[in-house]
Amino acid sequence: ILTVDQAVEWMKEIQKRMDEHKEQLTVLDQAIGDGDHGINMTRGFTEVTAKIHHVNYDSVSDVLKSAAMTLMAKVGGASGPLYGTAFLKMSVAMQGKDVDEHVFKQAIKEAVDGIHSRGKADFGEKTMYDVWSQVADFLEEEEVNDWGGMVEVCQATIEDTREMIATKGRASYLKERSKGHVDPGSMSSLYIFEALVEVLE
Ligand code: ADP
Ligand code: MG
Ligand code: MG
Repeated sequence: ILTVDQAVEWMKEIQKRMDEHKEQLTVLDQAIGDGDHGINMTRGFTEVTAKIHHVNYDSVSDVLKSAAMTLMAKVGGASGPLYGTAFLKMSVAMQGKDVDEHVFKQAIKEAVDGIHSRGKADFGEKTMYDVWSQVADFLEEEEVNDWGGMVEVCQATIEDTREMIATKGRASYLKERSKGHVDPGSMSSLYIFEALVEVLE
C-alpha cells in the first residue's frame, strides 16, 4: 500500500503541512513549552525533503531511515529524537518487505513502541504518545482503508490532551497550569498522519 514514490511524497506532504502550521505550532508551544516546536518541525522536515530529493531510493524502508537520521541530527528539541525513533522503527519493520497492509500496521505499532521506550511517556501524560498510541489502537481494530477515521482519532486525541496535566516533557514544569492547552507534539503528529492519508488516498 506504500510505494517508494509515496513514501517520498509523504515526507513532502509533511513538510508542506508543518510550513503551513508553523505559527500555530509555535503558539501552542509558547503556551506550555519553549515556543520552538514550529521551528523544530519546519527545519526538520525541510532538511528531510532536501535530503531525499537528492537520493534515489530502492525501498520505502530506506526513505524512512533517511528521514529518521535527518530528524535526529537536525532537530534539537525532544521531538527530533522521538520522531526520529518513530521513523527508524518503521524503517526497520519494513526492511526487505513490500509494504502491504500487514507490514504497515506492524510498522506503526513498532513506531509507537519506539516513542514509548524513548520518551517513557504513558497514555494520558499529554504528549505525542497519546496520539500515536490511539492511532495504533485504531489500526488494530479497524479496517486499514478507513484513513479518514485515522485522522479523526488524531483530532479527538488532540482535544483530549487539552484537559490533561502534563507529566512528561517541558510542559510538565507547569504542572496544573499545563491544563487548558492542547499538546504541540500531538498537533504535529496529526500533520504526519494527515500527510500519510493524503498520499494513500
Ligand atoms: P522541546 O520540548 O525540547 O522544546 P519540541 O517543542 O520540539 O521540543 O517538542 C515538544 C513535544 O514533544 C511535546 O509537545 C510532546 O508532544 C513531545 N514530548 C516531549 N517529551 C516527551 C516524552 N518524554 N515522550 C513523548 N513525547 C514527548
Ligand atoms: Mg519546544
Ligand atoms: Mg526546545
